[in-house]
Amino acid sequence: MSELFQQLQPYLDRAFALNAACTLFNWDQYNAPKDSIENTSKIIGILSGEQYRALINDEVKNLLPRLSTPEAQKELAFHEKAIIRLLNKQFRKLSLIPPEEYQAYSSLLVQAYPIWEAAKNNNDYASYAPVLEQIITYSKKFAGYAQKEGQTLYDAALDDYEEGFTTKILDDFFGRLSAALTPLVKKISQKQDLISTQCLHKFYPADTQEKFCHFLAEYIGFDYNRGLTSESEHPFTTQLHNHDVRFTNHYYENKLDSAIFSAIHEGGHGLYEQGIDDKITLTIVGSGTSMGMHESQSRFYENNIGRSREFWKPIYQKLVDMYPEQLSQVSLDEFYKAINASCPSLIRTEADELTYPFHIMIRYEIEKMIFDGQVTVDQLPALWNQKYEEYLGITPSNDTEGILQDMHWSGGSFGYFPSYAIGSAIAAQIYHHMETVMPIKDYLEQGNLAPIREYLKEHIHRFGCCKNTQEILMDMTGESFNPEYYIKYLTDKYSSLYEL
Ligand code: ZN
Repeated sequence: MSELFQQLQPYLDRAFALNAACTLFNWDQYNAPKDSIENTSKIIGILSGEQYRALINDEVKNLLPRLSTPEAQKELAFHEKAIIRLLNKQFRKLSLIPPEEYQAYSSLLVQAYPIWEAAKNNNDYASYAPVLEQIITYSKKFAGYAQKEGQTLYDAALDDYEEGFTTKILDDFFGRLSAALTPLVKKISQKQDLISTQCLHKFYPADTQEKFCHFLAEYIGFDYNRGLTSESEHPFTTQLHNHDVRFTNHYYENKLDSAIFSAIHEGGHGLYEQGIDDKITLTIVGSGTSMGMHESQSRFYENNIGRSREFWKPIYQKLVDMYPEQLSQVSLDEFYKAINASCPSLIRTEADELTYPFHIMIRYEIEKMIFDGQVTVDQLPALWNQKYEEYLGITPSNDTEGILQDMHWSGGSFGYFPSYAIGSAIAAQIYHHMETVMPIKDYLEQGNLAPIREYLKEHIHRFGCCKNTQEILMDMTGESFNPEYYIKYLTDKYSSLYEL
């Protein structure tokens, strides 16, 4: 380590420790006593402030340019260069926003969440519209500060979540998806009788589901000596470092597939974090490189692998043994079809693999219009409903199952949604590539998932944020982001399932 970098190290360590403390408090919120929130938020606020100041201060500001010169860079290790790159980016971004605006915006977001939640519960968009309007104003303003030459305002917002994925790339991506998949979705909606999902909606006691999900997570390689699972309303994954990765699940006793695929999905996120190299895990580059890449790993496990016949072949009997009454008359083939059934629906988080990207496309188009000033906040619910009719042939009967369903906008996350679709497309691209380097289907049929996991670790996980999404794809597959694999994967899979 260079002497100069050594001077930076204590700041990095302190910021990392404070970040871990905040993560732990946030995790604990789900099990903390109900009335603890107010006082605990104060503690989290203080810790977050300290975390911010641990890195954003004059000492680090002085060190950064000195560590960025070509001579200094020569002495740095690969991951140290990545740390400097990330710090420079964070400094640039934060220095653009006047502190008083950032503070006002942060308080606005704290207030916005309960307002959104109440509006959703009461189907009352009007009560949420004023605060949404303010969040949009700030988001556009901040995107304006960050906007570089040649970028649209929305490009600047997108850049926060997926570096290099511009509206140009995404217009092309969603355009191709829509052209190829819209006719497929329409044809399948005429053939709904072909696949029954009834076998998934019997009574499945939660405690047995929990046992099976634990088995599944271990089966794909999640290491319970370095991780744990718990329950929450919506499943999610979080981590302190590569030896402490945690995810949650939710068990519905009349929906067998929900917890099963959440366990595999969150387990996929978990494998990414457990696969980070020991050398970087306690640093700011020691976690998944982007939202899209993270989502690619969870979806690779959940969909490309987890919803395949080959995956279930060695383990389906185990599930039947756990629920003999419910499943002994259900063949593997029936089960396989049921877990892959497609039907246009209103709620994004419950959508099947084929219709899912349409939910994202709709949000993407709306966000673009918001940033272009083509739509007012009052017009959003009608626009939302019109797009659902246009793409999926269904219309929400109220705003709760329409525009109010997702919390993202109340948290100021504009530009975040596309990552979900990017993730699915990357997963398909990676799967295609892996088929060319290993007998992936044979491994699945043999119940041997280690070579798959090791390959992903070697080419993606261990690097953390040291490489961005496009660099990982190029180095691994020899090709940058290419949505054709995703389109072909969905077209082939669903044409076969629905005998088209
Ligand atoms: Zn996910």
